Amino acid sequence: MRNLNKDITNKFIPSFDLTGQIRLLQNQLTDCYCKVLSNGSFILDKNVKEFECSISKLCQVDYGIGVASGSDALYLSLIGCGIAPGDEVITTPFTFIATANSITRAGAKPVFVDIDTKTWNINPELIEEKITSKTKAIMPVHLYGCPCKMDSIVSIAKKYKLKIIEDSAQAIGSKYQDKSIGSFGDTGCFSFYPTKNLGAFGDGGMIVTNDSKIAEKLLLLRSNGAKIKYYHDILGFNSRLDELQASILNVKLKYLNQWTVKRRNIAKLYNELLYPRIIDGKLPIQLPIEPENAYHVYHQYTIQAMDRNKLKSYLEQAGIGSTIYYPKPVHLQRAYIQLNYKLCDFPVTERACNEVLSLPMFPELTEDEAIRVANSIISFYAQ
Ligand SMILES: *Cc1c(COP(=O)(O)O)cnc(C)c1O
Repeated sequence: MRNLNKDITNKFIPSFDLTGQIRLLQNQLTDCYCKVLSNGSFILDKNVKEFECSISKLCQVDYGIGVASGSDALYLSLIGCGIAPGDEVITTPFTFIATANSITRAGAKPVFVDIDTKTWNINPELIEEKITSKTKAIMPVHLYGCPCKMDSIVSIAKKYKLKIIEDSAQAIGSKYQDKSIGSFGDTGCFSFYPTKNLGAFGDGGMIVTNDSKIAEKLLLLRSNGAKIKYYHDILGFNSRLDELQASILNVKLKYLNQWTVKRRNIAKLYNELLYPRIIDGKLPIQLPIEPENAYHVYHQYTIQAMDRNKLKSYLEQAGIGSTIYYPKPVHLQRAYIQLNYKLCDFPVTERACNEVLSLPMFPELTEDEAIRVANSIISFYAQ
């Protein structure tokens, strides 16, 4: 009897779950891909155009260019901005590897700058000391959906005539000083990987820009260098968002704003439940913050916690999923051994890797579930 009760109250709360969203949209989604099938046009047609138009509107920019993934959005942006072998691009070591890989793929060298302790985003105060005659661009990452301090980054870029390529993969819909993330840089890059705030049923990406020359070049780059089929002006690639994914994204985009509001409400609830205990000195954890003048879209609700690994196991035992984004910084990855970085090069990043934990966060997470998560964290530290 007792066990049965326990099973009900301990129903597993996953870190992330798409089933609720898919159930809600089942009919609309089935409809939209039936239409694509009967149309029989799968590459660069009206669904992609509509989606490019909607995202450029959402970001208040002139152009949106659909590409195959967020990784490709970053890579094509670098090529589109003229970044070439021998150049250096400044970025954060506390990100998904794709950020740095796009720079490496372009033949340039990623130069890392440590992060801010409160937001875990690149620390603008440490950027200037890393600028050399080879530096050509800055690639800030709006980690977890929290906007970087773009006023500082833009003014540094202006001073040194650097390009800005925003890795906005986790931050669609977020804003800084009332301006959309993705619209500060020469380009802004989005990912529609299934678990992102706006996710496709496969890979997809988008580049946004206000620069007509860059937009023009990106259109060539994604289609083997051709504007007119079989007439190739430059060396390009095959990197396109396809009609099926775009049709799904067109349906889902209508819900993005309300999903973001739900994410923000969950974050607010976590804050309300945990903050008083921190003030009381009972919780050795740091909560995420929403910087002044920022609109955070909470792709993740990430805490920095003492005894993180033990907390994670404890939550798992209590039927609660959690995830570590990211357990190992980019500068210490074996894939980047040739850059000769070492332990202690970026202490704030390295500490974050050992202490961050992302709690369950998706629009369909219920209030009761969030309360259970918070209570489990509180009881772990009360032991
Ligand atoms: C997801 C992600 C990417 C890559 O996007 P893909 O669509 O998976 O290629 C790049 N940067 C960050 C910060 C991401 O979270």
